[in-house]
Amino acid sequence: MIFDSHVHTHYSHGDSEVYRVILGAIKKNIQGVGFSEHFHYNYFSDTGWPTINGNEVKGTVSENFQLYYTAAQKAKEEFKDKINILVGVEIDFLPGINKKIKAAIEEKVFKGKSSTDQKKGYEFDFIMGSTHFLGQPLKYFTDYKTQGEDWLINEYFNSIEEAIKSKLFDIIAHPELIKYYIDKKFSDYRQRIETIVKLLAEYQVAVDVNTDYLLDPNVHTVEVSRMNPGVEMIKLCLKNNIPLVLGSDAHRPEKIALNFEQTIFFLKKLGVKKMYYIQNRKLIPYKI
Ligand SMILES: [Zn+2]
Ligand SMILES: [Zn+2]
Repeated sequence: MIFDSHVHTHYSHGDSEVYRVILGAIKKNIQGVGFSEHFHYNYFSDTGWPTINGNEVKGTVSENFQLYYTAAQKAKEEFKDKINILVGVEIDFLPGINKKIKAAIEEKVFKGKSSTDQKKGYEFDFIMGSTHFLGQPLKYFTDYKTQGEDWLINEYFNSIEEAIKSKLFDIIAHPELIKYYIDKKFSDYRQRIETIVKLLAEYQVAVDVNTDYLLDPNVHTVEVSRMNPGVEMIKLCLKNNIPLVLGSDAHRPEKIALNFEQTIFFLKKLGVKKMYYIQNRKLIPYKI
């Protein structure tokens, strides 16, 4: 059995509408697909995308998010005999916005809208937390060039630690996202990863094994060193029984389940025997 629990649609910055994603997943012959549309900071305001240095940060505005949710739920029912569809979300996390996120999920807050449907709250299969931008005002990871590697590593891992402790999330997405920007020999990198795994165990949060970064753009081959989480962190997760959830982070249908064969090969070599998907907020294991 293979589940891809991390795919995006055109409701944010992907280019696939919901049906194309499902048909893409069926074509790949996988048994389950989990929609995890972005839910960015600007979800809380209808004034448009947030900006960094005048550039728009693409995400999902509240109105589009509602359309996504409705379309994905409808498709879940429609295709239930063909493929297991999960309706989830990838929420951008930053320390200090816990309450806003909680309210948005539970009360289904939509600025400027009023319908009884809003009151029901979202019923996600899984809620994934991630950090793509840092600080207030927002900055890109690449701003480490002026802010320093210390800034990047501290801001990023502080945010991930807070995300785990917030109890808002079932899964943390691509937990080592900054490793593509920095020299991994950074002094306390290993220590920060150990703390993250300890917290994952304590708060019972799963990890997204994200296959989107496996291809090394310089040599055009799939490199084990580019796994996210990396080998060291996967070993720590195994030791601490942290559930691993496989996801392609596909923004186009042809990228669904991309690099899964190689990833599963790497994971098996590290001793991983089962993976998980999360349905109705419950972990479900499957053998690999
Ligand atoms: Zn992400
Ligand atoms: Zn994603």
